[in-house]
Amino acid sequence: MARILYGRPVAEAISEDVHGRVDRLTRRGVYPALAIVRVGQNGSQTAYERTAVRRLENLGMDVQCFAFKEDIPESELLSAIERINADPLIHGCIVLLPLPGHIRSRLICSSIAPLKDVDGVTGDSISAVFLGEAGFSPCAPGSCIELLDYYGIGIKGRRVCVVGRSLVVGRPLSMLLLARDATVTICHSDTEDLAGECRRADILISAAGRPGLITADHVRAGQTVIDVGITAGPDGELLGDVAFEEVSGIVSAITPVPGGIGVIAGSILAKNLVTAAEILSAD
Ligand code: NAP
Repeated sequence: MARILYGRPVAEAISEDVHGRVDRLTRRGVYPALAIVRVGQNGSQTAYERTAVRRLENLGMDVQCFAFKEDIPESELLSAIERINADPLIHGCIVLLPLPGHIRSRLICSSIAPLKDVDGVTGDSISAVFLGEAGFSPCAPGSCIELLDYYGIGIKGRRVCVVGRSLVVGRPLSMLLLARDATVTICHSDTEDLAGECRRADILISAAGRPGLITADHVRAGQTVIDVGITAGPDGELLGDVAFEEVSGIVSAITPVPGGIGVIAGSILAKNLVTAAEILSAD
């Protein structure tokens, strides 16, 4: 049976650091605050919002939720983000995705002030990740790196297979791994022989959002498997990409869903928010 790489201790280590930094800021009268922008009533978005509010408030931070009707015109949403950008009491802003079809997601994401872009979605943040420069990287990719470091799983020189090439997870994650000197293979829905590519890796990271995609056929002994996928099942249960029961009997180490990467992502958001507050309140 594989070693289970739980997210909680990783999240706790990050949160401890964040707590100290929030204390130092509040002693100077700076209260780190996040704006969450949501359009419509998507169930998984409202669930994410509730979790984020609880986590950040527990760490002494403030969260302001800006909820809009499904049919809000794009221009009004842009104006709302401009007001958030200009508000000196708000240090970070995230927009819950996906947005309704009449709204251009890239335009909205790119309208967030780069210094408040705590989920790494603006062009500036994305290019910083690709250029290997300082900046906010998206929370899920950052969580994978934190998890590997926490459990002492080396990245340098290792073969890492990333399943998924989205701008939110797969691509930035691949760049972060490359910056740590991994040899990275990026797979997607047109990859021929996905199972073979996955088996060749030392570390397999799946971010496809396809429950049960990674089976015993995709893994071998000695691997570390990280499951970024989170899909709500028919009864509302959270499902990962990896067929956990069969895969955990073969590989060396594996993250669970729930209880793995998703737990860490909230702490990375908190870490990015406190960093933004420190930068924006610097004299
Ligand atoms: P996405 O935009 O839908 O991208 C999915 C990627 O997976 C695409 O690149 C797609 O390939 C690839 N893919 C889909 N089916 C595949 C298959 N059968 N074989 C190989 N590749 C396949 O999703 P995302 O936003 O990146 O999110 C991915 C998953 O991560 C979702 O379950 C999401 O909920 C989860 N997530 C988790 C966290 C967290 O904190 N744990 C944060 C963000 C996202 P193509 O490009 O060819 O279509």
